[in-house]
Amino acid sequence: MHTIPPSLPQADLILCGAAEVLTCVATGSDPIGADPIGRQAGASIAVAGERILAVGAPIEIARQVDATHARVIDVTGKIVAPGFVDPHTHLVFGGSRVEEYAARMTRSAAEVRALGIPSGIQATVEMTRHATLDELTESAAARLARMFRHGTTTVESKSGYALTAAGELTMLRVNRRLREIQPVDVVSTFLGAHDFPADQPRDRYLDSLIQEVIPQAAEAGLAEFCDVYCDEGYYTVAETRRILEAGIAAGLKPKIHVDAYADIGGSALAAELPVVSADHLNYTSRAAMRAYAEAGVVGVVMPGLDFAVRHPRPFDARAMFAEGMNLALATDLCPGCWLESMQWVMQLACRQYAFSPEEALLASTVGAAQALGLADRGALAPGKLADIQVWDLPSFEDVIYRLGNNAVTMVVKRGKIYFM
Ligand code: ZN
Repeated sequence: MHTIPPSLPQADLILCGAAEVLTCVATGSDPIGADPIGRQAGASIAVAGERILAVGAPIEIARQVDATHARVIDVTGKIVAPGFVDPHTHLVFGGSRVEEYAARMTRSAAEVRALGIPSGIQATVEMTRHATLDELTESAAARLARMFRHGTTTVESKSGYALTAAGELTMLRVNRRLREIQPVDVVSTFLGAHDFPADQPRDRYLDSLIQEVIPQAAEAGLAEFCDVYCDEGYYTVAETRRILEAGIAAGLKPKIHVDAYADIGGSALAAELPVVSADHLNYTSRAAMRAYAEAGVVGVVMPGLDFAVRHPRPFDARAMFAEGMNLALATDLCPGCWLESMQWVMQLACRQYAFSPEEALLASTVGAAQALGLADRGALAPGKLADIQVWDLPSFEDVIYRLGNNAVTMVVKRGKIYFM
């Protein structure tokens, strides 16, 4: 009979028997032996509390942790990956724009408007302003529950559909409420500068954002990031600078919607500040991509949005990789792109934007976490959050092969088991 040395850390949970664990921690260095996603065949994962204790061969785990009181989950034959991080969503909104989306299948935007169908951001602003905090919370929580079921364990969520001081703060309070009532981590972003309200002079709204709403949101701890929609017809580069600098002064980290429909110079500002992430990037120049790579700005690209709006200029991921950029994938879940599955985002990224399956996985996990400034997740390694998804697939590559499939059979979020 052997005794376990008392110094070994106690595991609460062991996942064992996986066909493959995708740690998303790069291993090896030579061109043939290098593995960017750190595949480990037959590895086990030990979890204590909210964190990962150890990842490795079962015999190694047995040496490293005390599993006497651990719950052991057999994941034989399954693929195990870090929970997805979805770093760009407009999760909170009132109503739906299904009527507009369906009409747009066969008609132009102008034709749809001529039919009197409420369209665009302003239509959602109307619906959001008429919804209560409880109603907004309920509809967002339902979407979030489905995202969780698809393996997403951290979501960024932006305001931006109220476009009034009080309404924007309400949207941020919904983010806070969501954190309290369900398990997915919600990172809150203030996007009062999503558009200009139709019922207020442009300058007055801009001043209220800078002087009133940003300081209040920061003071109340309602947001971690400040974002601006910098594009033709939206916020100018000068306006964007004022807002993001006000955010930085208040303690909010900067993000930007940029180059989605035109290159108005927003990327130069974004690399100069620098922002934590620059999102969309359809019209971004090679020089701006280089500047982003040098400044360590994560590029967030959203294949589902390009698909949903049938974008005339899909982003150029290969050019971004060639210039050395770190990329993240996101759903851009919003009323114009009702997309809750990061698996489907990976499928689009691979087939339509020439991501390799490995690049798509990294951009949906560790890269996406970096787009939110989070170093504690997106990879399966000791000390990281135990945010883990289990796929019922015969190989890793099946996740980008089986289109529209949901492979998730189990999720571990902060050490707790769901959907088993
Ligand atoms: Zn967006």
